[in-house]
Amino acid sequence: MLGVPLTLPPEARFGSVDSVQAYVDRVLGPGEVRVRARAGATGAHYERGADRRPTVAVPAGRDGAWALRELVVLHELAHHGAPSDAAAAAHGPEFTAAFVDLAARVMGPEAGLALRIVYAESGVTIG
Ligand SMILES: [Zn+2]
Repeated sequence: MLGVPLTLPPEARFGSVDSVQAYVDRVLGPGEVRVRARAGATGAHYERGADRRPTVAVPAGRDGAWALRELVVLHELAHHGAPSDAAAAAHGPEFTAAFVDLAARVMGPEAGLALRIVYAESGVTIG
């Protein structure tokens, strides 16, 4: 651990799929990525929809409330921003770089730094 106190920006939590969509529209611009509800509570994911529109699917039920958090949504949006689907799907260096950059840009540099520290301590390579 670094002996430097790090003040993290507050992480947004969302109450509905619509509020996640409004957030995504603010971050990326309206219409760039669609947000839809998915069944189950086990996770969120990024996909190309049947109509090829980039889509983030988030659990909509009460059990899925854990996923309606800013860092979870930004993680999925980093898949959208990462250069190649294959590397992004594997959470490789290109993906982690995109995630760190996005978190720093949207939440503030402290959030990007915190992610860098977590990745470094976990032995994850950032591209
Ligand atoms: Zn992922």
